[in-house]
Amino acid sequence: MDFFDRVVSTITNTGKDLGEKAKETADLAKLQMEIRSKKDFIERQYAEIGKKVYEQKKDEAESEFEEIFLIKHTFEEIEEIKSEIADLKGYMECPKCGAQVKAEDNFCPKCGSAFMQERDDMDIIDL
Ligand SMILES: [Zn+2]
Repeated sequence: MDFFDRVVSTITNTGKDLGEKAKETADLAKLQMEIRSKKDFIERQYAEIGKKVYEQKKDEAESEFEEIFLIKHTFEEIEEIKSEIADLKGYMECPKCGAQVKAEDNFCPKCGSAFMQERDDMDIIDL
């Protein structure tokens, strides 16, 4: 093998190696992505189990899962934030059904109860 042949052979082999390396890397990335997506799938199934357990046990006074109380507490916090948002937007909560109603409405569009009385009372208190 003369010098030129050796150079050609080296280049060819190196090129093949790089091609194989790239393919290996791509295969590896593909397999790792497969694992990741399967792990995501498992996480979603865990979350579904968690929701089911939560629904079954949320009304129990005592629970072996402190997470149930944490979730319940967080739901309450969300409700508080929602009512803050409603206040900011000029909405009020229907005292009967809890629906969000525009502050200037006289009737609840959901349950039909009238607000005039409550608002008059509030005005009297305000004065
Ligand atoms: Zn209502």
